[in-house]
Parts: sequence; structure tokens; C-alpha cells
Amino acid sequence: MSTDHPALDTEVISRLHEVVADLGRVGALWGPEQLQSNRDAEALAKVVERLRNMYPYGDPRYIGQILKPPHPVAWAAYAATALINPNNHALDGGPATAQMEKEAVEELARMFGMPRHLGHLTSSGTIANLEALYVSRELQPDGVVLSSEAAHYTHKRMCDLLGVRHETVAQDGSGRMDVEALAQRLEKGGVSVVVATLGTTSLGALDPVHEIVELAREHGVRVHVDAAYGGFHTLLAGASPAVDPSPFAALPHVDSIVVDPHKHGLQPYGCGSVLFADPGVGRLYAHDSPYTYFTSDELHLGEISLECSRAGASAAAFWATIQALPLNADGLGRGLRDGRRAALRVAERLNEDPSVRLVVQPDLDIVCYYPSLSSASAVTAASDAVFDSLARDGWHVAKLTVDVSWLNAAGGELQPDADSVTVLRSCIMKPEHVEVADDFADAVIGAFRGVRSP
Ligand SMILES: *Cc1c(COP(=O)(O)O)cnc(C)c1O
Repeated sequence: MSTDHPALDTEVISRLHEVVADLGRVGALWGPEQLQSNRDAEALAKVVERLRNMYPYGDPRYIGQILKPPHPVAWAAYAATALINPNNHALDGGPATAQMEKEAVEELARMFGMPRHLGHLTSSGTIANLEALYVSRELQPDGVVLSSEAAHYTHKRMCDLLGVRHETVAQDGSGRMDVEALAQRLEKGGVSVVVATLGTTSLGALDPVHEIVELAREHGVRVHVDAAYGGFHTLLAGASPAVDPSPFAALPHVDSIVVDPHKHGLQPYGCGSVLFADPGVGRLYAHDSPYTYFTSDELHLGEISLECSRAGASAAAFWATIQALPLNADGLGRGLRDGRRAALRVAERLNEDPSVRLVVQPDLDIVCYYPSLSSASAVTAASDAVFDSLARDGWHVAKLTVDVSWLNAAGGELQPDADSVTVLRSCIMKPEHVEVADDFADAVIGAFRGVRSP
């Protein structure tokens, strides 16, 4: 399989042809229940053919980006609800799905141990973070927003959008926010909110939220936790195989939390969420919409959201999923635990081999690694070559660019003949990865042994 033109195999495509034909048959609750014409069926068949050009995200041998198909319960609930197509903007747009959204968000708040909350689903983690930053700007318009070097790139962009100042705090050798650097910046004053990340997108690193909260409180500064990726790992905190419980234990004391059900919550895309500790922030969303609220005096979800239309189907899908897999260690946590176990196994195997180096020890289930060669440019060339050779053997990984000076400070020993270096990155987030962990480690080690220093 060439990496330039990924392709799903014929068997998967023929299954998809069958599925789409079935869906066409059940595609309406009102009016005509069948596809109307050959043209309709042909259009769907053409889509399936276009979908051939995809990596096999659901296959255990896909160990690349944060990507996997949704849980069958999630997508069945989504598809069924989409036949009605409710809009969770206003209560009369979807009474049932608005209620499911409230209940699902309540479950999230309970999972994080928040004593009180106000929250809702969003179309993405980016929009959810935007809302948290918007609330913080409304409370303190002149304050500076701090996030770590390893924080998601959209925080700075959203600060630009909101017209607030943003500054970056250094990361330490583990890819976590450097608490010393944070303490020094807070001393200088003028900060409104610290954005901590639980599960950085690049390395899966956990910022020390417990230490950050303590420092921020001393300075009267808010703490927002971007747990878009790693929020659900709170279900594993302290359990075996261990995830450090300390940063998660501080979540009841932070001001806002973002978690993406469409990442580790097994949902189709279009499902993020934001939760605030103080329900009073709802007043900051006040607006006057003449056409929406007429059926109830209750607070509508649309009144506490920056977005207007939102898919009620997303709420139904997530609600259904956590009925089937409750937010506890034996429910949704089970799959996360297997991913974590597989990640630790891969990391252990790669660590043992002299031809491979880990960027950091994994805090969650993302493992980043590179060949032990002497210079940055050699590592980049070898990473590119190994990425391609793994793909030819059916293993799909991802790439990550890191700063050479940071990597060396973190224990790397590269001749700095370039500013940055390409390493390989794997999100080991499917339970099935447990079964392939050793084969995958063998494949990586074999490929790295095959590359030579120039
Ligand atoms: C993925 C991610 C985001 C962005 O979320 P989207 O749902 O992709 O918009 C923000 N922060 C972190 C830490 C993430 O991993």
C-alpha cells in the first residue's frame, strides 16, 4: 500500500456498499421510504468509491493519528436521531435530545468530581476551548492567557480572535508545563487564566494541574483545563496500568474543563464539550434571540452556548454510548485501559532496543520514538524512510516535528544540524492494539535497524 494513495481493501469497500444500500432503504421516517431513483443509489455508490482513498482507521495496524471509528451504539443512535434531525439550540428544537445532552453533561461533571457545573456539548474541542477563553475574557478583559509550549495551537489563535493577549510558558523535559517558569510569570502579574493540558496532542503529556491550581490560586488567576484528548483517562487514574492520579484529582478545583467525546469517547466527529465550575457564568452568554425561546422558561442550552444550531443527534449518540458503557473503570474505562496497556508494552519494547529512542515516557497512550542516530538531519531522513516502509508493510503511524534544542535538553544527544527534527508518533488508542503491540514493536525495531547513519 503506497502512502501517497492510501486505499481501503476491497473487502471493506464491498461491505460499505452493502451498508450504504441498507441505509438508503431506511433513510426516511416521513414521506418516501426508499431511494427515489437510480441516480440516488448511484450517488451513494460513488461516495463509497471515493471513500476507498482512506487509511484503515479501524484496523489495529493503523497506529497513527487520534482517529478511529465510533462505537456502533454511538453511530446507530446518531443515525436514528438524524432521521428526525433535532437542533439542540432551543428546547423546542429538540426536547428529548436537549434532555439527553443535560444528562450526558451531568455525567461528565460527575466523572470529573465537579461539585456544581454548567456545561454543554459543542461541535469540537476547539470551539469548547474558545468558550472557556471567552468566559475568561468577559470576566477579565485585560488579562493575559497563559498556555504551555505543548498546548494545542488553537489557544493562541482563539486569543487573537478574542483580542486578548496570549503568552507561552516553557515545557519541561517531559513535555509538561514547566511549573517553575509558570511561577515566575505569575509573579509578574497581569494573568487572567492559565490553560493546563491533560494529554497534550503531540506526546499525551499531563500538565501538573494540581501544582498549577495551587500557584494560580495564590495569584487569584483562573485555571482552564484542556482535556480534549486525555479527559476520559481520569477513569484510569491510579488504576492498573497506572495513570498518574494527581493532576486528575485536582479537577474538582479548576474553573473550566474541555473534553472531546469525539476523541476518547467513541463518538462520531462533531462532539466536544465544555464545563464550567461556576454556573453563574451562564449570565455572560446573555443574548436576545427573538425567534427561538417560546415554549419554556427553563434555561435552554442555546442560551449558554456561543454556537447556534447543534446536532441533537450528537447528544443522543453520546448519551446512548454512556448508557452502554458508563463513565467508570469497567465501562468506557475498559477500552482506555487496554490502549494504555498496549502503549506501555510498545514503549517498553522500544526502550529496550538500542536502535530506538523514546521522546518521553508516555503519560497516556501516545508513544513517540525515533532512530538512535547522531544528527537531527539523519533522524529526520530516517523517520521519513521508516514511515514509508512501515506503511508498505501495512503499519500506519504518524509524524511529529519537535524542537532539537528541547529534545536535547530532554535527554536527546543529537548533533543540532537543524532546528527541528521529525520523529514518529503513534496514538495507541484501540483496545485491539493490545494484541498487536509486540508485532508492532518488532516492525518498528526492524525498520530502525535497517537505517544507517549517513
Ligand atoms: C484535539 C485537541 C484539541 C482540538 O479539538 P478539536 O475537537 O479537534 O477541535 C484541543 N486541545 C487538545 C489538547 C486536543 O488534543
